[in-house]
Amino acid sequence: MKTSRESIPHGLTLLQNPLLNKGTAFTETERDALGLRGLLPPHIHTQDEQMARFMENLRKLPDTLEQFVALAALHDRNEALFFRVVCDNVDEIMPLIYTPTVGLACQRFGHIFQRPRGMFISINDRGRVAEILRNWPHQPRIIVVTDGERILGLGDQGANGMGIPVGKLSLYTACAGVDPATCLPVTLDMGTNNETLLNDPYYVGLRRHRVTGPAYDELIEEFIVATQEVFPDVIVQFEDFANHNAFRLLEKYRGRICTFNDDIQGTASVALAGVFSALRVKGTSLADEKFLFLGAGEAATGIADLIVAAMVAEGVDIAVARQRCWLVDSKGLVVKSREGLAAQKLPYAHDHAAVTDFMSALLDLKPTGIIGVAAVGGTFTPEVLRTMADINERPIVFALSNPTSKAECTAEQAYQFTDGRALFASGSPFLPVTYNGKVMVPRQGNNSYIFPGVGLGAIACGARRVTDEMFLAAANTLASQVTPADLDQGSLFPPLSNTREVSARIAVAVAEVAYQRGFASKSRPEEMLSLIQAHVYDPHYPVYA
Ligand code: NAD
Repeated sequence: MKTSRESIPHGLTLLQNPLLNKGTAFTETERDALGLRGLLPPHIHTQDEQMARFMENLRKLPDTLEQFVALAALHDRNEALFFRVVCDNVDEIMPLIYTPTVGLACQRFGHIFQRPRGMFISINDRGRVAEILRNWPHQPRIIVVTDGERILGLGDQGANGMGIPVGKLSLYTACAGVDPATCLPVTLDMGTNNETLLNDPYYVGLRRHRVTGPAYDELIEEFIVATQEVFPDVIVQFEDFANHNAFRLLEKYRGRICTFNDDIQGTASVALAGVFSALRVKGTSLADEKFLFLGAGEAATGIADLIVAAMVAEGVDIAVARQRCWLVDSKGLVVKSREGLAAQKLPYAHDHAAVTDFMSALLDLKPTGIIGVAAVGGTFTPEVLRTMADINERPIVFALSNPTSKAECTAEQAYQFTDGRALFASGSPFLPVTYNGKVMVPRQGNNSYIFPGVGLGAIACGARRVTDEMFLAAANTLASQVTPADLDQGSLFPPLSNTREVSARIAVAVAEVAYQRGFASKSRPEEMLSLIQAHVYDPHYPVYA
């Protein structure tokens, strides 16, 4: 692709613009035409050579945090090369730019800080949020916003939570080809209750405890209104809000603007896709299954809601479908007699005696699947896993808590204590496991299979809303990409290296739902895949002159 020379800045300004910079790959003609002569060493490298050099240096670094820093620095100076590196080495790089490394990077954010990325808006900015958004030099199509209160399973990280929107938006580009110039990461600094951060001289956020109540809601409202005023039709993805805000904000805004919460809806979609794969192995249907969740927060109730929606779509009565999902939270089994339950847990508060621990609930209910989303590491003990294997020929065991230290069990434990019969998926990556001479390749129930394609589909058709039906369509599409060979080696998801193809298919399915339901603002294309592909960013360098 040749880009018009008039629109390209010259000289050092060009070299310092990460969206346009090609470093030593600028050609002889470009160097003459764009005032670069003398500003670069004489030898011209190809992007492939630059990538090889970067990877060689990256692999020499002593730990994953240093690798995260090196990747962030590359992102800051040359976006195309950064995304080539990510796209061509997705299995190796994704755990560095997202979970698990991003968790540590958020905890250490102030200490490794080099350059700001995205926008920081604080509670002190009330009354001028629209004015601040106008400082952003691009026209975003998608915003990922966090208030930093529940970063992965690591709790309140305050303004340090910015690592999450930045990482998520990198995955939009890497996994679905959403143009990085249209991605805006935002952190709303509402204060933090993390005393370690408040006492850390390098912490990047406000030195104050979290604001709550009307003042909190007013900043969120002002932010949402400002996004629609300054960037009409931008998609707003809520990310890593604590569950006391996540559910109500989603309910408040989902009917007003194009928004979704990946922790609730994206997680649900990827987990349901994993369940669909497990059903293919078992030869059962969804209504045959009974799930016991460890955790009853955003992930658990989001997954349960989508499982119920999928059962209802298969003709199961909603009350019966809900009876197939049970939740255990920090107080024990969620039952009808429990008082003061949060609204999202009520559909799953069934008639049952009070039970205070997960093991007793497991023995009572005899589920076919256990789904760990409580962010408490090691809770799928050998006893839990052996019990699941006693009850089920092929137990479904999803240890989804992140980062790795919070995983309910490792892949190795899941296979070891179920005689290799577990249908296993995890939130953080685990290496292949050899069990009884067979190599099992567990795969991550990674949200990045889902949200990039959902976002791409919504952008391409100009969706006015993102609906649960779109996440159901995404789950079905993802599951359809799992091959018999994947299933045979214990993989409930396709390889991550296929995400671009998977995302394109999900985008088609999402846009299809938008057109069917009247949520698309662009006219229906002759061919949906071409519409999607027209929106895909290519990290190979363009020719400027
Ligand atoms: P959340 O804070 O909304 O919910 C956590 C839940 O765990 C709460 O219901 C809490 O009561 C419960 N809990 C806490 N301690 C418990 C205990 N000892 N026993 C039983 N329950 C307990 O958090 P969330 O958004 O639901 O995320 C939970 C975990 O799932 C995190 O680690 C997150 O990283 C992970 N997650 C994974 C994926 C994925 O793998 N794709 C996606 C989303 C979230």
